[in-house]
Amino acid sequence: MPKRPPAPSVDPLSQSVTTLPGVGPAVAAKLAARGLHQVQDLWFLLPLRYEDRTRVTPIGMLAAGSPAQVVGQVLAVERGFRYRPVLKVAVSDPSQATVVLRFFHFNRAQAALFVPGRRLVAYGEPRPGQHGLEMVHPSYRMLADDAEAGVRDRLDPVYPAVEGLGPQSLLRLIGEALKRLPPAEQLELLPAGLRERLQLPTLREALLTAHRPPPDADLPQFALGVHPAQRRLALEELLAHHLSLRRQRIALRAHGAMPVRPPGKLAASLGRRLKFKLTGAQQRVLDEVARDMARPEPMLRLVQGDVGSGKTVVAALAAANAVEAGRQVALMAPTELLAEQHLANFRAWLEPLGVQVAWLAGKVTGKARTAALTEIASGRAQVVVGTHALMQDKVAFASLALVVVDEQHRFGVHQRLALRDKGLDGSQAPHQLVMTATPIPRTLAMSAYADLDVSVIDEMPPGRTPVTTVAVSGDRRGEVVERIRAACAEGRQAYWVCTLIEDSEEVEAQAAQSTYEQLTAALPDLRLGLLHGRMKPAEKQAVMARFKAGELQLLVATTVIEVGVDVPNASLMIIENAERLGLAQLHQLRGRVGRGAAASSCVLMYKPPLSQMARERLEVMRASTDGFLIAEKDLELRGPGELLGTRQTGLASFRVADLVRDADLLPEVHRAAETLLAESPGLADRVVERWVGGAARFAGA
Ligand code: ADP
Ligand code: MG
Repeated sequence: MPKRPPAPSVDPLSQSVTTLPGVGPAVAAKLAARGLHQVQDLWFLLPLRYEDRTRVTPIGMLAAGSPAQVVGQVLAVERGFRYRPVLKVAVSDPSQATVVLRFFHFNRAQAALFVPGRRLVAYGEPRPGQHGLEMVHPSYRMLADDAEAGVRDRLDPVYPAVEGLGPQSLLRLIGEALKRLPPAEQLELLPAGLRERLQLPTLREALLTAHRPPPDADLPQFALGVHPAQRRLALEELLAHHLSLRRQRIALRAHGAMPVRPPGKLAASLGRRLKFKLTGAQQRVLDEVARDMARPEPMLRLVQGDVGSGKTVVAALAAANAVEAGRQVALMAPTELLAEQHLANFRAWLEPLGVQVAWLAGKVTGKARTAALTEIASGRAQVVVGTHALMQDKVAFASLALVVVDEQHRFGVHQRLALRDKGLDGSQAPHQLVMTATPIPRTLAMSAYADLDVSVIDEMPPGRTPVTTVAVSGDRRGEVVERIRAACAEGRQAYWVCTLIEDSEEVEAQAAQSTYEQLTAALPDLRLGLLHGRMKPAEKQAVMARFKAGELQLLVATTVIEVGVDVPNASLMIIENAERLGLAQLHQLRGRVGRGAAASSCVLMYKPPLSQMARERLEVMRASTDGFLIAEKDLELRGPGELLGTRQTGLASFRVADLVRDADLLPEVHRAAETLLAESPGLADRVVERWVGGAARFAGA
């Protein structure tokens, strides 16, 4: 995107926050730390929720789960220090009912305020507690004996915290910013037809309603996020994100690419050497890929295929074409374990055909690294397999034509851009093939990957028997161990996966270690292996190789085996603490079995009691092996952020929109995006700038 000169500051759309009363350098710095530079940034800092202090609820009428405001008298106060300090204040009102206010953080002065007989007003969410309903950390204010509670005439917006700025100051600043909202016509960027068709308010009206909902606003509608004001904002936000991704695509396409269209001899030889025939779906996707690569524009294709659908070989055949055309291929995987496995496959497939396959991971150091870098830079290495180490500055390719990224959701858009830049050769960009085993519901895929074309391998290789899944309480561990003994006696192999909530490789490794020891003691006749993230790459590789060769019968592992590990003879999988994992992850793990002809099973071990959510998840896993169906459920249960690992993709940064809730807006969004890009690219720029802001810089990358 070309740099535009800064607009004159008289324009209310670009005034600095420092023009607001009470914003000096200190406050401006705090706002800036949160990405709030201009007055308009404050308009778009939207409430997370609303609190209804427009009325007082009699304590007797409180309902668990429904936040409410009460006015009452302190009845009793209790301070305890059993496990941690706690302050409990019983409050009652003329309805004769009592509610307990419970505080875990409080200071002496605060505690001293609560004197039996004093009146107060409190707002919070009642929950069932030891003695009836409780409010944990309610907001409250003491009242003079005869004072009115003073109900508000509007819903109170609750804003995301800005560090170092109190909620009251923020509320005031946003109020000041809203006073500068220009007339509707000046603010509006959406085509009028679109708004009218969807019967949505103008942006000005939507912002005013969202920040300061009137007392008669439909609160349940607001709470669900489906108020027309919110829908209006969500529409524009979705449009902005979509446009931003589309522009990345357009910018990339503008680079052009070297068309790859060899006679196809190398791929044909590889095909002949394979022990199997491609499925119809693999062939179709391969054709799509080959067609894309033959064009003078960079391919941007996402291949989705359920676990075990055979994506790797499709990538290998595409790679063969690039190599035959005299160019290089980079294959990047998110973990070393997975990258090593790809390396083994690619070497087995391509080296007999005379193709040089090089290896580059973070752990490749010293002379080996220098050698690898030289091979890559000289072009002698025709295929380079590795981890994100491939993206480092030192890595230079001689003539990179194809970048394959496996398990896309673990890499972000930005990382993808970094690898692409490796292939920038004059004005040309490499073709990109992105593979993911996390099936993403269609609507979501269209939004998350608006910069990519999508192919789906929707057919499994023949001869697979579906995995049978059971959920078993951890109390029955003994039976599960017996089951492993029996399976291994029949020549089968098994995985035991240890999972933990803590996001610490260290703790997880320890847990796996001790499980390994227990199981070794319980199964003295079996040959066990241990695999976790703290082991050296060479150790991991050795263990994997022994398991693959059938020397080890039971592999005790952490979730490092989640992605891509492929040992067809393994047909039993035990997942410990399965209730803690999300569906997508369980599906990935389970995908490690059911890869051979033997009937496979998966045991989901859980620690009772199960929450409702956990029960539902295990039930979904028990009932289905269809990755797309599981993804739809996952989306329903957890929302898109979790599903896509959006901390990386940037989708989590939606302020109002919710891809599930607002899914019905997406077709409109896509249509509007096409129209804007074609007819008023300037407007499109402004929409992106407004909502995506700094992230939009990547658009021109
Ligand atoms: P994923 O899509 O999960 O990455 P892989 O590429 O690892 O799946 O393939 C899973 C297994 O299926 C591998 O052992 C692979 O060799 C095998 N495979 C791939 N395609 C076919 C096919 N058409 N017929 C039989 N087996 C296949
Ligand atoms: Mg794979």
